[in-house]
Amino acid sequence: MRYDLLIRNATVVDGTRATRFEADIGVRGGKIAEIGRLKGKGDVECDASGKIAAPGFIDAHTHDDRLMLSAPDMAPKVSQGVTTVIAGNCGVSLAPAPRGMPRPVTPPLDLMDCEGGWFHFPKFANYVEELRARPAATNCALLVGHTMLRVQTMKDLDRPASQGEIKKMKEMVDEALAAGAIGLSTGLYYEPARAATTEEVIEVCRPLTRRQALYCTHMRDEGDHVVDSLEETFRIGRALGVPVVISHHKVVGKPNFGRSAETLPIIEKAMSAQKIGLDCYPYCASSTILSFSRVGVASKVLVTWSKRHPEFSGMDLAEISRKMNLSVEKTVEQLLPAGAIYLNLFPLETAVYKMTGLTAKTFGLADRGVLKPGFAADIAVFDESKIDEAASFEKPIEPAKGMVAVIVNGTVVWRGGKKTGARPGRVLSRTAG
Ligand code: ZN
Repeated sequence: MRYDLLIRNATVVDGTRATRFEADIGVRGGKIAEIGRLKGKGDVECDASGKIAAPGFIDAHTHDDRLMLSAPDMAPKVSQGVTTVIAGNCGVSLAPAPRGMPRPVTPPLDLMDCEGGWFHFPKFANYVEELRARPAATNCALLVGHTMLRVQTMKDLDRPASQGEIKKMKEMVDEALAAGAIGLSTGLYYEPARAATTEEVIEVCRPLTRRQALYCTHMRDEGDHVVDSLEETFRIGRALGVPVVISHHKVVGKPNFGRSAETLPIIEKAMSAQKIGLDCYPYCASSTILSFSRVGVASKVLVTWSKRHPEFSGMDLAEISRKMNLSVEKTVEQLLPAGAIYLNLFPLETAVYKMTGLTAKTFGLADRGVLKPGFAADIAVFDESKIDEAASFEKPIEPAKGMVAVIVNGTVVWRGGKKTGARPGRVLSRTAG
């Protein structure tokens, strides 16, 4: 049997949460042809002995609308194994711009392009056409931004939209969806959208219903009033009868630290009545003071400092409690005042699922996110023992380590620590369901 690409001897983590298994992966015509012990040859071969092969990662929250055109090799993404990006988040999208863009560019739209020259697509369809004519290395799925629509429609952003303005925005949403957008995003937290009422959002979003498109939101308040904002988000989803995605869910501000213990059960309960997804920043740890109540909800706690027992700095709390021959609660009492890093770990199969199979399901990307015959050949091959971020808060632009090969629609875009220059990315549509 002949394959376009044959990945040999991989440890497959397939994106469904199933336990890993050893197999070869044969790719033909941009799709996964077979997975198993494969006889035959590939035009391109990749020996993945001792390496993990997983579905390419889907970056659920990006502002890559412009990057896909201005730096289409997408090296910052493919170097990490990302094969699909969801763009147009937080109310911010590059299109449509029938009016162009006022200068200086209205924040937060300036995060896309602070000069403003890239806001030159009068219709959303023009932007999609450009992405199809000059594809990026990654696939994308696009949201149209509510803030962008306001800036394109209203002169004075400090008030709710009038009926006439709502009608115009609605037409633009309809046009964007017809052109291939998978939904709409809001950034109600940001100034240009803050005056929008819940009713304005619902009315502007009406066209989502017919197409079962997504409502994604950077909520109005992620701090003291986070619960009100969750309720607003759920209400919008219910009024439209569409799935909602809460972007980068968090609780901001020191007085609110730990309140995810309150918000997550609220979200979970609402999930039983309507479709809700959420993403969050990909850091598995948070750092704060040592306290028994936080210890209870963490799977692992590293003590960072202790006034009374400095010798235990950097040690696992469970190990300290064994050494001191005390219960965890008594150990914490002995160490205080002290600081700790709280880790919540899960197996690699679960981590991969949350970045692939679950994400594809949430955004309605059919035949993506799972390694399975017939599915698109978006694949990340990496070394589990070496995979790591090299970037830090001090040095944020450093390529990740451990990615061996990254394949988009059957074409290798990253190999041997370098981009290949191939740009096989597609604009993906949403399959509602
Ligand atoms: Zn945001």
